[in-house]
Amino acid sequence: MIAQHAFLGLGIEEKRQITLNYSGHFKGYNAHVRYSAQKIAFTASRQWEEVDPDIQIGLLQNLIVKMLKLKIKKTAQMELYESFMKNLSRYAKKHTYDPQLEEAFDRINAQFFEGGMQKPNLVFANESFHKLGSYEYGTDTVYMSTIFKDLSPQDQMYLEYVLYHELLHKKHSFSVKNGRHSAHTRAFRIDEAKFGSGMEAKLSGFLRRKKYAVGRIARSPQRSFKELFRFW
Ligand SMILES: [Zn+2]
Repeated sequence: MIAQHAFLGLGIEEKRQITLNYSGHFKGYNAHVRYSAQKIAFTASRQWEEVDPDIQIGLLQNLIVKMLKLKIKKTAQMELYESFMKNLSRYAKKHTYDPQLEEAFDRINAQFFEGGMQKPNLVFANESFHKLGSYEYGTDTVYMSTIFKDLSPQDQMYLEYVLYHELLHKKHSFSVKNGRHSAHTRAFRIDEAKFGSGMEAKLSGFLRRKKYAVGRIARSPQRSFKELFRFW
């Protein structure tokens, strides 16, 4: 049993009942663990079922390390899992490119990545002033808030700034520290600053204008973009 092996590989004798289920309700390569005093239940997306058992063990060990807050050296399976997740984007099959986002991507790719970045799926998600964009590793997809749709030429840079941020998530993949994924590393922030100075403040101004335009606010006190920014 994969889940039992995951514990044994970490040198843990776990007495609770351990289960692993594959669920069609999970997107991409998501997985989680729930536990009580009696049992530990892992659930992983259907896609995991076809993945090499050693890599699955690495996935579960990653969850166990977080669950038990272990400070241990990574096992070989955990290393396998990490490189699997990093390389996943290369194997993602579906391709969806919104034309407006594709144009912006081409410009950013030429300017900041020397044209070397593989194009991820590029799609508009929901209208959101809080989650401006996100990058999903499992499917290699950038989601952008629809507030960036059909911008005037002088506002185009806001879309490009947020898109650039998301592409940096792809570039840096994720670095793992003590079993935790840290997305906005120092190296990430250094790259991000290359876009130009004062962008966060300018983006704040843009968001206020946009909210005003869609009637969300009559007038709102200035909120720092930084505050929003840290969460995605
Ligand atoms: Zn981010």
